[in-house]
Amino acid sequence: MTLDDVYVGMQCMAGVFGALFGSFLNVCIVRIPEDRSVAWPGSACPHCGNPVRPYDNVPIFAWFWLRGRCRDCKTPFSGLYPAIEALFCLLTVLLFRRVIPDIADFDTPHLLAFVWYGWLLFSLVGLTFIDLRHKIIPDGFSIYSVPVGVAGAALLRHLGFMEAPTWQQSVVGAASGGIGLVGVMALYKLIRKREGMGLGDAKLLAMLGAYFGAVPALPFIILVSSVVGSVVGVLWMLWKRKGLQLAVPFGPFLAVGAVVWLFFGESMVFRWTGIATGWALGS
Ligand SMILES: [Zn+2]
Repeated sequence: MTLDDVYVGMQCMAGVFGALFGSFLNVCIVRIPEDRSVAWPGSACPHCGNPVRPYDNVPIFAWFWLRGRCRDCKTPFSGLYPAIEALFCLLTVLLFRRVIPDIADFDTPHLLAFVWYGWLLFSLVGLTFIDLRHKIIPDGFSIYSVPVGVAGAALLRHLGFMEAPTWQQSVVGAASGGIGLVGVMALYKLIRKREGMGLGDAKLLAMLGAYFGAVPALPFIILVSSVVGSVVGVLWMLWKRKGLQLAVPFGPFLAVGAVVWLFFGESMVFRWTGIATGWALGS
C-alpha cells in the first residue's frame, strides 16, 4: 500500500462522513424552521408516522432501493433528500482535497481546519435550502457561527495554519460584514422605500467575515453572488416571460459566493489583480 492509496482512502472516509452529515443536514433543514429538536426523535414518515428503520437510513442509497417511497405506506419522499446528501458528500471530499492537498499535510492543524471549514459548508448548504423554502436564515447557521469563526481562526493561527485570518482580522471581518450590510440595507430602504435584503443576510455576512476576514473575501463574495444572482434573475425572466419578480432570497447566492471563495478565491483574486493576498496555503 503506497501513500497515494492511503490518501485516496482518506478521501473516501471524508466522503462517507460527508454523506452521513448530509443526512443529518436533511433533518436540520426540515426541523429547524419548525422549531423541532434535531436530535430526537429519529426520522419518521411524515404520512404514516412509522420510524425510518436503521437499515433504510443509509445516506444517498436508501432512497434508491426504497424507490423514493416510504417502506410502509408508499408515500413518495422528495428526491431532494438524496440530492442534498450527495451534494454534501461531494463538497466534503473537495474540501478535504482543498485543505489537505497532500498526505504530508495531514496533521492536527490541517485536520482541525478541515472540521472548521466543514462546519461552515454545513451551515451554508443548510441555510441555502431553508432560505429558499422559508425565506429565513436561522441564527444557528449564521450569527452563532461568528464565535466559532473567531475562536477557530485564533486557534488555527496559533497552531501555524496561516490560511486562517488572525483573530483581529476575524473580528473586523465579522463586524464589517454584519454592520456593513445593515448600513447598505438602511441606505437602500431610504432610497428605494422598500426592503432589499434581510437581517438574516447581515448575520450570514458576519459569519463569512469571521471565517475569511474582511478584505478581499467579502467584496469578492458580494461581487460573485451579485453576478450569479443577476444571471439567474435574467434566465428566470426569459423562462417565465414576465417582469423580474424573482421570489428567491439573496442568502443562497451569498452562500454560492462563499463556496467559490473557499475553493477558488485566492487564485482568482491573484489572477485579477496580480497581488498575492497572503491567503495561499503554507504562506
Ligand atoms: Zn409512511
